[in-house]
Amino acid sequence: MLTDIRTFPCPACSQIINDSADICRFCGTPVDREAAIAAADIQDRVNRGCSDASYLRTVAVAMFVFLGLSFIPLIPLVSMGFLITFVVLAILLVRWQVKYRNIPTKDSDYDKAMGQRNLAFSLWIAAIAVGFVIKPLVEMFLWPRL
Ligand SMILES: [Zn+2]
Repeated sequence: MLTDIRTFPCPACSQIINDSADICRFCGTPVDREAAIAAADIQDRVNRGCSDASYLRTVAVAMFVFLGLSFIPLIPLVSMGFLITFVVLAILLVRWQVKYRNIPTKDSDYDKAMGQRNLAFSLWIAAIAVGFVIKPLVEMFLWPRL
């Protein structure tokens, strides 16, 4: 890992530069080694936060596919699939919050990652209403007539 060239945004002009540079190649501002390493560490967290957030969104969508399918009677195991993805998503959301919330960065990808986290969290909240309130009511009132 130590030999990897890492990147971070220039503190002066926000262009992406690498942490082995002595001066920013865009604006010529001298790069402080310590600050560069700290900034690159932050950028690593931002990058991991972004890829984990897109995974959160994928799990949230999968959860809703299972939930949608579970409205159709006689398809086995989809309710189980919903419950598993529901629990996994809750764990992943908490894990994301612990690891990646409040990263001091102006990176627009981090804003996108927070948007994906918000989407995943909204779907999770919606799944409580749909999966544990609406679906039991539908089963109670509609399925006996099918
Ligand atoms: Zn610069």
